[in-house]
Amino acid sequence: MFKDIETPCYIIDEAKLKHNLEILSQVEKNTGCKILLAQKAYSCYHTYPLISQYISGTACSGLFEARLGYEKMGKENHVFSAAYREDEIDEIISYCGHIIFNSFTQLDKYRDKVLKSGKKIGLRINPELSTQEGHEIYDPCSPKSRLGITLKNFKSDNLDGVSGLHFHTLCEQNSDDLEKTLDAVEEKFGDILKKMEWINFGGGHHITRSDYDIPRLERCIKRMQDKYGLEVYLEPGEAIALNAGYLVTTVLDITENDMPIAILDTSAACHMPDVLEMPYRPPLKDSGLNGEKKYSYRLASQTCLAGDMIGEYSFDKALEIGNMLIFEDMAIYSMVKNNTFNGMPLPSIAIMHEDNSIEYLKKFSYADFESRL
Ligand SMILES: *Cc1c(COP(=O)(O)O)cnc(C)c1O
Repeated sequence: MFKDIETPCYIIDEAKLKHNLEILSQVEKNTGCKILLAQKAYSCYHTYPLISQYISGTACSGLFEARLGYEKMGKENHVFSAAYREDEIDEIISYCGHIIFNSFTQLDKYRDKVLKSGKKIGLRINPELSTQEGHEIYDPCSPKSRLGITLKNFKSDNLDGVSGLHFHTLCEQNSDDLEKTLDAVEEKFGDILKKMEWINFGGGHHITRSDYDIPRLERCIKRMQDKYGLEVYLEPGEAIALNAGYLVTTVLDITENDMPIAILDTSAACHMPDVLEMPYRPPLKDSGLNGEKKYSYRLASQTCLAGDMIGEYSFDKALEIGNMLIFEDMAIYSMVKNNTFNGMPLPSIAIMHEDNSIEYLKKFSYADFESRL
């Protein structure tokens, strides 16, 4: 697999991407809901022509994503930002059909502009139900969260022009947590929903994971459609490209300090920052846990950051300098988050087509490092 690839390189697996898109498209067909790609997780726009054949559009977090979605996908385009800048709002409105506000101050400030343009207005609510444990940085319902308006701060008498509600409270979760969240949304905002035309369930739905309960998701969607007559939107990011990409790297050296350490031509800090931020242990093809297979290594990066380590893995065969290693599930939250810290080069971006042929989409150079400094 991936012989002759120049490393480091992200490789998008077109067949797996299509597999995910087929699942998502089926949910749209079964329920009549609309699914949008949250570009925050995955913005490799070279694949937007493919994605646009299956789902309804894009979700964005600000001006640049709004423009990318508009120019590269050109379907439904919804934007949420914790606050919009005055010097950007007109351009954002020009790209997006749905503008979602995070406060009544922002609503009052921009309401007339949005309505005059014929676009739709939504408000992000905070149902104050944490359904995830351990990852507070990914929990918009954590104490003092800035994301979404709580019931206490919700001004039910100031909804002129507002046609929808938006919530986003999940992260890598199943539909049982969505169901609980909908209970909280209804309990707190049920009266408002009766006056709305649409609701957006946000992202964090791991719909394309093998143990995800899709029938329960579809019941959740139908519940909002039937009870309130709402159009339902979902904006998953991860689910679109889950397990649909790799980061391919080469072993540059093998050193020793209490255990063998393999130095790779990639970096957790630069090329897979979620490994350190979340943190998590990325899956690696043909490997086991430390000690599980005969040869164990700590896998680490080329940079000077002591903590720039990927994890401890084991292999059936001893690693050798020049071996290629393939990290899996690297399409999401990777290219969109990478950086050139320590002067590390950015990995190339390639796609593996269904016939297994590899096409490079992007290669980077010194200019990409220099241009940002
Ligand atoms: C991050 C985010 C998403 C996508 O979340 P995933 O976990 O990648 O599915 C969708 N909507 C909003 C508002 C977000 O902040």
